Amino acid sequence: MESSLLYWTITGAVAAVALALTVYNANHWIGDKRYLCEDCKFNNDQDCHKPERPTALDCTAYRAQS
Ligand code: SF4
Repeated sequence: MESSLLYWTITGAVAAVALALTVYNANHWIGDKRYLCEDCKFNNDQDCHKPERPTALDCTAYRAQS
Protein backbone atom coordinates (compact mmCIF):
# COMPACT_ATOMS: atom_id res chain seq x y z
CA MET A 1 0.00 0.00 0.00
CA GLU A 2 2.76 2.41 0.96
CA SER A 3 4.77 1.57 -2.17
CA SER A 4 1.67 2.24 -4.27
CA LEU A 5 1.35 5.72 -2.74
CA LEU A 6 5.02 6.36 -3.44
CA TYR A 7 4.58 5.15 -7.03
CA TRP A 8 1.66 7.51 -7.68
CA THR A 9 3.40 10.41 -5.96
CA ILE A 10 6.45 10.02 -8.18
CA THR A 11 4.29 9.49 -11.27
CA GLY A 12 2.28 12.61 -10.51
CA ALA A 13 5.42 14.66 -9.96
CA VAL A 14 6.96 13.49 -13.23
CA ALA A 15 3.72 14.22 -15.11
CA ALA A 16 3.52 17.71 -13.57
CA VAL A 17 7.11 18.50 -14.55
CA ALA A 18 6.52 17.19 -18.09
CA LEU A 19 3.39 19.31 -18.46
CA ALA A 20 5.17 22.41 -17.14
CA LEU A 21 8.08 21.90 -19.57
CA THR A 22 5.68 21.37 -22.48
CA VAL A 23 3.80 24.61 -21.75
CA TYR A 24 7.06 26.51 -21.24
CA ASN A 25 8.58 25.24 -24.51
CA ALA A 26 5.39 25.83 -26.48
CA ASN A 27 5.29 29.47 -25.40
CA HIS A 28 8.95 30.00 -26.30
CA TRP A 29 8.64 28.14 -29.59
CA ILE A 30 5.76 30.34 -30.69
CA GLY A 31 7.45 33.47 -29.39
CA ASP A 32 5.98 36.92 -29.84
CA LYS A 33 5.04 36.30 -33.45
CA ARG A 34 2.10 33.93 -33.61
CA TYR A 35 0.96 34.01 -37.24
CA LEU A 36 2.68 34.27 -40.61
CA CYS A 37 0.33 37.05 -41.65
CA GLU A 38 1.75 39.39 -39.04
CA ASP A 39 4.79 40.16 -41.18
CA CYS A 40 3.49 39.19 -44.61
CA LYS A 41 3.46 41.94 -47.21
CA PHE A 42 0.05 40.73 -48.49
CA ASN A 43 -1.66 41.15 -45.15
CA ASN A 44 -4.43 43.49 -46.33
CA ASP A 45 -7.91 43.15 -47.85
CA GLN A 46 -6.81 43.99 -51.39
CA ASP A 47 -3.84 41.61 -51.70
CA CYS A 48 -4.99 38.55 -49.77
CA HIS A 49 -8.36 36.83 -49.97
CA LYS A 50 -7.34 33.64 -48.22
CA PRO A 51 -9.70 32.56 -45.44
CA GLU A 52 -6.71 31.86 -43.20
CA ARG A 53 -5.80 35.54 -43.00
CA PRO A 54 -4.90 36.97 -40.53
CA THR A 55 -4.14 33.81 -38.57
CA ALA A 56 -2.25 31.65 -41.11
CA LEU A 57 0.29 29.29 -39.60
CA ASP A 58 1.32 27.83 -42.94
CA CYS A 59 0.92 29.57 -46.29
CA THR A 60 2.56 29.06 -49.68
CA ALA A 61 1.80 32.67 -50.68
CA TYR A 62 3.62 34.15 -47.68
CA ARG A 63 6.13 36.85 -48.53
CA ALA A 64 8.05 38.66 -45.85
CA GLN A 65 7.80 42.40 -45.67
CA SER A 66 11.04 43.92 -46.89
S1 SF4 B 1 -0.64 35.48 -48.20
FE1 SF4 B 1 -0.78 33.94 -46.55
S2 SF4 B 1 0.60 34.71 -44.96
FE2 SF4 B 1 0.19 36.41 -46.35
S3 SF4 B 1 -1.54 37.50 -45.46
FE3 SF4 B 1 -2.38 36.03 -46.90
S4 SF4 B 1 -2.83 34.21 -45.67
FE4 SF4 B 1 -1.44 35.50 -44.48
